[in-house]
Amino acid sequence: MIKELCKDILFLSKKAEDATKNDLQVAQDLLDTLKHHEAGCVGMAANMIGVNKKIIAVCTNDGMIAMINPKIVYKSDETYETEEGCLCHEGARPVTRYKKIKVEYLNMKFQHKTKTFTDFPAQIIQHEMDHLEGILI
Ligand SMILES: [Zn+2]
Repeated sequence: MIKELCKDILFLSKKAEDATKNDLQVAQDLLDTLKHHEAGCVGMAANMIGVNKKIIAVCTNDGMIAMINPKIVYKSDETYETEEGCLCHEGARPVTRYKKIKVEYLNMKFQHKTKTFTDFPAQIIQHEMDHLEGILI
């Protein structure tokens, strides 16, 4: 179900809690909401739809996926400076991102996955995982 976007900075600044199987509907809502905003948005974190759980939805080279309880287990030495925008606030802000990351997460079937991402998909994941930490760029 497409959800309203949360723009409450106080809520968005909270650290997200671990998600459980009971939160699978939240992951589905997040995918639906991201799909709805696809034209102007490449990723979304659950707190952006008002749920303080560790779930993100991102556009990757293999299409749109949800990641539950994602954890970055490897970061490349190589970083780069870029600018990012966000549906939660106006304008673009400067950030430093790792070029390559390896992420452990649970998929929609609650199966453990480990995947390596580079460049733009890696950047989207880092941005959304910042949201889970309550960090707004
Ligand atoms: Zn954002």
